[in-house]
Amino acid sequence: MSHTDLLRPRLPAISEYNRAYWDGSVHNELRLPHCRNCGHLWLPPSPRCPRCLQGDIDTVTASGRARLWSWVVMHRQYFKEFPPPYIVAFVELEEGPVLMTTIVGASAAELTCDAALEAVFEPATPEMAILKFRLAKSV
Ligand SMILES: [Zn+2]
Repeated sequence: MSHTDLLRPRLPAISEYNRAYWDGSVHNELRLPHCRNCGHLWLPPSPRCPRCLQGDIDTVTASGRARLWSWVVMHRQYFKEFPPPYIVAFVELEEGPVLMTTIVGASAAELTCDAALEAVFEPATPEMAILKFRLAKSV
């Protein structure tokens, strides 16, 4: 069984609220919901702005640049889909939102607070790619 087959049951359903995000993911674009009322940006997508609760929402494409806020290394296996060790991290996007995600292509020994990161998308299905981050190649 491939990793994609293992992961598939944990993937969310595509809806009118998250379609722009997932469409962006398969084009290596990080698309954020943007509130046209108050300007707030956030993830994950939702039908209403979490700041002002209005529903007038469009989408902006983020730079993909972020800073590493904090991280832990998971050494215990909780789900067969996620064999350890793997890194769980909080990153702050250049546009402001803070996300829980993972860091790929680096060991924990290579990470430092505020390290420059860039988004990468790992294909999961033809309609979805999973957002992850790696250390930026140039700062
Ligand atoms: Zn708002």
